[in-house]
Amino acid sequence: MTATPNATANATPEPPALVIASGNAGKVREFAALLADLGLQVQPQPEGLKVEETGTTFAENARLKAEAVARATGCWALADDSGLSVAALGGAPGVHSARYGASDAARIERLLRELAGSHDRSAHFTAALALADPSGAVRLEVEGRCAGTILEAPRGSGGFGYDPVFFVPEADLTFAEMAPAQKAVLGHRGRAFAVLVPRLKELLG
Ligand code: IMP
Repeated sequence: MTATPNATANATPEPPALVIASGNAGKVREFAALLADLGLQVQPQPEGLKVEETGTTFAENARLKAEAVARATGCWALADDSGLSVAALGGAPGVHSARYGASDAARIERLLRELAGSHDRSAHFTAALALADPSGAVRLEVEGRCAGTILEAPRGSGGFGYDPVFFVPEADLTFAEMAPAQKAVLGHRGRAFAVLVPRLKELLG
């Protein structure tokens, strides 16, 4: 039997689609840039899809979002959950970081009020990432952390969220005083992606 050329078999395979489990366009762009080397089709999650973050840990919330978005889309899905944990506040605001006040300024104001008079001002940021395959099974989970202390007053004008009060001793700067490239290396999200990317490359061949 003579072999007939098979157009499907010879076609360059489409790169796999990876849906970022977030409705935030800025986050999707940031993740697409961090994953640029992998040649994936990075896409935002479908509009209107809302996953309740009912977990008690960052890892649990990332997992919930990755599973739900993979099941809803039938694609690989990457989710993150992040926040600030302050030792003297028993780990608060933790998974409630985004809901700790009505605005960034109100969240910082509450944090400084609750920490007033405390000698222990140590804290860390965590970024948990979870990757689910198209069936919704979680295939990779990683976490990045950045240790620091909470200042008594904000410093710097860059970044977002709690950045102006989060001081990183190894840089001698707050997150809000750092250049974005330095925060990308030292920060919790950058550290989590540095672990994720080689493992994702391996998994997707
Ligand atoms: P989520 O991970 O999008 O649910 O947001 C977590 C919340 O944690 C944000 O709304 C911020 O308040 C805080 N957060 C997470 N990462 C950072 C950061 O890099 N700088 C400052 N605040 C952050």
